[in-house]
Amino acid sequence: MSESVEIVTIGDELLLGTTIDTNAVFLARALGEIGVPIARRATVADDPDEITDAVRQALERTGGVITTGGLGPTADDLTRPVLARLFGRELREDPAIVAALHALWASRGRGGALPPSNLQQALVPEGAEVLANAQGTAPGLKLTDAQGRWVIMLPGVPRELRHMTTTHIVPWLASRGSGTVLRSRSVRTTSIAESALAEKLGPMKREVEGLPLAYLPGHDGVDLRVTARGLAAEESTRRLDAAVARIRETVGIHAYATDGVSMASVVLDLCVARGDTIAVAESCTGGLLGARLTEVPGSSRVLLGGVIAYSNAVKEQELGVSADDLEQFGAVSEQVAVQMARGVRGMIGATIGVGITGIAGPDGGTPDKPVGTVWIAIDVRGETTARVAIYIGDRAEIRHRATQVAMDLIRRALLAS
Ligand code: ATP
Repeated sequence: MSESVEIVTIGDELLLGTTIDTNAVFLARALGEIGVPIARRATVADDPDEITDAVRQALERTGGVITTGGLGPTADDLTRPVLARLFGRELREDPAIVAALHALWASRGRGGALPPSNLQQALVPEGAEVLANAQGTAPGLKLTDAQGRWVIMLPGVPRELRHMTTTHIVPWLASRGSGTVLRSRSVRTTSIAESALAEKLGPMKREVEGLPLAYLPGHDGVDLRVTARGLAAEESTRRLDAAVARIRETVGIHAYATDGVSMASVVLDLCVARGDTIAVAESCTGGLLGARLTEVPGSSRVLLGGVIAYSNAVKEQELGVSADDLEQFGAVSEQVAVQMARGVRGMIGATIGVGITGIAGPDGGTPDKPVGTVWIAIDVRGETTARVAIYIGDRAEIRHRATQVAMDLIRRALLAS
């Protein structure tokens, strides 16, 4: 039997946006792995009526609900009494939980007696199953009604939630499930528009190997995601692998990686394989390219260093950019980008130099060089390539996109050489 489940995450902080709802994401992925789809997700405040309504409606629709949050010892932790009432159950203190709470308190060396408010966590609705929480104080609870509809209450603390999902929820749901999985993989593309990708994919633009294809545009480019649902694990892996291979083949050079692999790690791997090293000269990106490359462990084998050449004086004095060219063509120009790349390569002694100069905004644009205009040049062992683009977006997006294109230029140059 395949059944879907609804998730209700509880907490004012989730609605205020001060905490990102990572619990729902983790649950969706973990359940997807065992083929249990999430039919709906809701987030509600620490409010008895809101919690009751959300869980009641979810139970009516789906018959299986997982809640997270509100199991702790404070006044805003309402999940336990509210759902006990919804199921018409009394709360009883569980002596085993009381003992465990005392033991945990003592073992953490906090001194004194356990504050009485903590004993709230030992209250268990009649007939509920207690789910041990090896990572924290509040155990999870499972309530089932006469029609077999169930709600599982899990703590909000992400570490505890993850642990309990793995130890209790996944094994239990998998044992009731159909043996199928829900998995996805993606091919990462860059420097190509969604529409152009769809054209290239032709008959595969909606479905590859019988798996639906989704287009996910972001600052790094467009990720193409294929999803297998309702298949056994082996069949799903076989079809996903085949789909990824066909997409990569069709999209060609625009596809730079699969799944969560970053452009930075692709470029670094290529450089390691070819014995190349990189030096960066960054104006409008102010070190972001260096930061993105150094995010990858082991990047020291490739990235030798760089210069943040924000002012014209630094461009001239440190990188040897011609004062005349700066005057004649402006700081945001092909000539300057190329001289930055060449200059930093020579100064640092790398095989590849990169120069980035542009207008990240919001001010500084002119009619012929609007905000978002960025010149990027690379010098690979003396051979230079430059590209200009006008990136759309705010300052952060423009800077991010420029570094992505700079790395992509290196990738393409190395693959072509
Ligand atoms: P505790 O025993 O610590 O009180 P709890 O079940 O009462 O656990 P909450 O008080 O709701 O959990 O939340 C505990 C912590 O976990 C808070 O820092 C909260 O911001 C965080 N948290 C709660 N829900 C989520 C969620 N859905 N995603 C990510 N973090 C969350």
